[in-house]
Amino acid sequence: MVLGILKEIKDERRVAMLPENVATLVKMNVSVIVEKDAGLGAFASNSDYESAGGKIDTKENVIHQSDVLVKINPPTTEERGLIKDGKVFIAVLSPYYNPDLIKEFATKNITSFSFDVIPRTTRAQAIDILSSMATVAGYKAVLTAANTLPKFFPMFMTAAGTITPAKVLVLGAGVSGLQAIATSRKLGAVVEAFDVRAAVKEEVTGIGGKFIEVEGASDDKAAGGYAVEQSDEFKQKQAQAIHDHAIQSDVIICTAQIPWKKAPVLLKKETVEAMKPGSVVIDLAASTGGNCEVTKNNETIIHNGVTVIGNSFLAVDMPADASKMFGKNVINFLKLIITKEGSLNLNWEDDIVKGSAVTHNREIVHEKVKAAIDG
Ligand code: NAD
Repeated sequence: MVLGILKEIKDERRVAMLPENVATLVKMNVSVIVEKDAGLGAFASNSDYESAGGKIDTKENVIHQSDVLVKINPPTTEERGLIKDGKVFIAVLSPYYNPDLIKEFATKNITSFSFDVIPRTTRAQAIDILSSMATVAGYKAVLTAANTLPKFFPMFMTAAGTITPAKVLVLGAGVSGLQAIATSRKLGAVVEAFDVRAAVKEEVTGIGGKFIEVEGASDDKAAGGYAVEQSDEFKQKQAQAIHDHAIQSDVIICTAQIPWKKAPVLLKKETVEAMKPGSVVIDLAASTGGNCEVTKNNETIIHNGVTVIGNSFLAVDMPADASKMFGKNVINFLKLIITKEGSLNLNWEDDIVKGSAVTHNREIVHEKVKAAIDG
C-alpha cells in the first residue's frame, strides 16, 4: 500500500505525519510519498523524510500514486479536483461544517475518515486528536495570556515590594481547560474554574484549581461525558456567578464547547466592561461563536482596556510537538486499517474504524453526519 502525506495550506505550520512516523510506516511495510516541503513548518525537511524511508514528490504525484492520503485539514479545491475514485482520505474533515465536501466524497467514491468524529472511548484515547490538540491549545492559551498580561503570574516577595499572584478563571474544564489550569498553576497563578459537568470538580481541585459551583446544571449521562445545553434559569445563575468571579480575575481562558453546537456565551459584554483594565481573555471557543460576547474570531481586540484574543487554533503555534502528537495519533489509527503485510484492510467490525468513517461505497456512512447533511 502507498500512503501519501499532503502539505497543509500556508498558515498551517503543523504536518499530519513527521519523519519518525514515516520510519514506523516503512517498518509496517507501507510505502510513503510526502508532498515536497510538507514538513517545513514543523521543522522537518524533505531530506529528513527521505532518510526515514519516504519519497518526496509533487502534490499531483502524491495524490495520484497513493492509496491512502493523510492530512490535517480538509482538502483544498485543487486537491479535491485531483482526487480520483477509490482513494482513502483521512483528515480532520469537520464533516458537519463541510457538507459539500462530504457529498462530493460520496459521489466520487472516496472512503473518508474524519479524526474529529472518532468515538471518545477509552480504547480510542491513543487516536484522540481532539484531545491532543486541546492539550496543546490549553497550554498555549496560558502562555499567550501570560505574555499579554501586564503583570506577573507568580507571587514575588522582593526588595521592591510584594507582587500578588495573577488570578486566572478557566471557563470549561474539559481537556484544554484542565491543561490551562495545570499550566497556570505551574506558573504560580491562583486558579478558579467553572464547568457544567459536576464530575470534573475533583479533577479541577486535584490539580490545584478551585471549582466554582453553580447548582442545578443538567448533566446528561447519555451525552458520553460531554456537556448539554442548559436551562434558562441555570444560565442566569451561571452568568451571575461568572460575573462575580470574572471581575476579580486578571486572565480568563474560555474553553466551553457543546459538540456540533454554537459555543455557550458565558462572559457577557457587561462583564468584560466591569473587568480590570489590562486583563486578558483568551477565547479558544472563538471558531464556534466564542464564550465571550465581544470575541471576534481570529482577531485580537481591546474592549474597554481588556485584551480579548479569539483563537481556536493555538495548536498551530506549537507545530513541532503538535505534529508529533498528531502523527502518533494517526499511526495508532493506521494500525487498525493496515495488515502486517502492509496492505489496507478496512475492518468494519472495529468500532473506531466504523465510527470515524464518513463516506464509503458512494454513501455517507456516518449516521449523525448523514442526518445533519440530509436535514
Ligand atoms: P469540549 O471541548 O466539548 O468542552 C469543553 C468543556 O466545556 C467541557 O468540559 C464541557 O463540560 C464544558 N462546557 C460546555 N458547556 C458549558 C457551559 N455552559 N458552562 C461551562 N462549561 C461548559 O470537551 P472536551 O474537552 O473535548 O471533553 C469533554 C469530556 O469528554 C472529557 O472531560 C471526557 O469526559 C470526555 N473525553 C473522553 C475521551 C476519551 O475517552 N477518548 C477523550 C477526551 C474527552
